[in-house]
Amino acid sequence: MASSTVQHRRLSEAQTGQLLDDLSALLGADRVLTGIDVREQHGVDESFHPIAAPDAVVYPTSTEEAAAIVGVCARHNAPIVPFGAGTSLEGHVQALQGGVSVDMREMNRILRLSIEDLDVSVQAGVTRKQLDAALRPEGVFFPVDPGADATLGGMVSTGASGTTTVRYGAMRENVLSLTVVTADGEIVRTRSRARKSSAGYDLTRLFIGAEGTLGLVCEVTLRVRPTPDAMSAAVCGFPTLADAVACVVAVSQYGIPVARIELLDEMLIDAINRYADLDHPIAPTLFLEFHGTADEVKAQAAETEAIATEHGGEHFRWATDESERRRMWEARHHAYEATRALRPGTSVLTTDACVPVSGLADTILETRADLDEHGLTGSILGHVGDGNFHVTLLIDGGDPADVERGMRFHDRVVRRALDHGGTCTGEHGVGYGKSVYLELEHGPAVVGIMRAIKHALDPDDIFNPGKVVDAAAPAHGSQPG
Ligand SMILES: Cc1cc2nc3c(=O)[nH]c(=O)nc-3n(C[C@H](O)[C@H](O)[C@H](O)COP(=O)(O)OP(=O)(O)OC[C@H]3O[C@@H](n4cnc5c(N)ncnc54)[C@H](O)[C@@H]3O)c2cc1C
Repeated sequence: MASSTVQHRRLSEAQTGQLLDDLSALLGADRVLTGIDVREQHGVDESFHPIAAPDAVVYPTSTEEAAAIVGVCARHNAPIVPFGAGTSLEGHVQALQGGVSVDMREMNRILRLSIEDLDVSVQAGVTRKQLDAALRPEGVFFPVDPGADATLGGMVSTGASGTTTVRYGAMRENVLSLTVVTADGEIVRTRSRARKSSAGYDLTRLFIGAEGTLGLVCEVTLRVRPTPDAMSAAVCGFPTLADAVACVVAVSQYGIPVARIELLDEMLIDAINRYADLDHPIAPTLFLEFHGTADEVKAQAAETEAIATEHGGEHFRWATDESERRRMWEARHHAYEATRALRPGTSVLTTDACVPVSGLADTILETRADLDEHGLTGSILGHVGDGNFHVTLLIDGGDPADVERGMRFHDRVVRRALDHGGTCTGEHGVGYGKSVYLELEHGPAVVGIMRAIKHALDPDDIFNPGKVVDAAAPAHGSQPG
């Protein structure tokens, strides 16, 4: 595999001045933002990784304008960091080498919706909640729900998934086509809207999960689903974490098409109760949802309740009415803030690992024991139907010893997942926080192929440099200890 000749770089003051002059000539000086506040807001995501501010922030309003911005940056060999809603968790949007943050949130139009074809095209800055509100009156919905109100461009770029992925798939299964600006400023459409295609390499999926390192996603065509006739939700507590996980494995083995099945450990239930003034019994708890016709939902719910009871499940609470169901899930969606409130003023280190469902029980139990043994404050939350779980760990960002303990725990979570046949990230992505684990997971040959793809599409490494595979790093990078 050819190795990259790309070097790490930072534009000089004079080069930055020329870049800003050319961007101002294109957009007008008032649309090239250089104030420290706006730059710092764009130099950090929701992770604990420190701010790395870009030199400027711009907000394109059309695909053509976005292409022109990329063209200017390419001429100056300036880094481009695409920015969605900044909710990612592995230092994804940090401008490690400065350059221009391209905030997509003014590209927020829904371009077309076809109920007949069950698809929708949107500009990349449309957010998940905005899309949900537009689709609901039409009797359809988009199923990928990462909790945060992320943009569709960001969700494409991290390969996001969420609570309903167990039933409807992640972004990879729900994106039909993308319009992307490439490093040479060209606007390309990756494929047609046809439901299937065998015409050449699957470039759509290449850009999904590319984290802004291969191009700027400007438009997204998505599958939508008819809103189910009936939905019901349930909450059920279990005597132990092992019982709750065994129940999830059994539900999956029986092939019950649950729409959501989420695990919250005792610490998280307690935190949510305090945060949202609720009264869930303090126990490892599953949140479930069923979609279908009224009869299907009833049958799925009854089968699942029977399996849960066999595994010691108790305190079943059902909700079929829409507002009650939404309220039940609202509690689950408070998980992040509720955990933060356990240790106010601390930073959050969110881990994300995914294993085959058969390895889930051991992985989660070992992780809980690890937290307890090391006296760490962290709650476990899992999209467990997919074998995916997170630990939200609270660390004192100002105390190097605490940060170090957190990082060691994070490293053990990743290695444990890999030992159980899993992956270092099920959905949050790599950013620069996890780039060191890519080779450990895939081996040097696969990382070499990834680096060759990066080099072929972005030979000067202008798109989000330093993320995912660092184009300037040697092929055999060192591994964390
Ligand atoms: C409380 C909380 C809960 C979360 N839960 C989940 C979850 O359940 N599942 C999940 O998958 N994630 C989850 N996340 C992480 C995050 O919401 C997702 O990764 C989301 O997809 C990021 O979208 P964004 O618009 O915020 O992108 P950003 O954070 O702005 O960007 C993410 C990456 O994509 C790139 N990018 C953004 N827009 C574009 C574009 N138009 N073209 C090219 N590249 C682009 C950026 O350069 C960056 O590398 C959670 C985060 C929080 C804070």
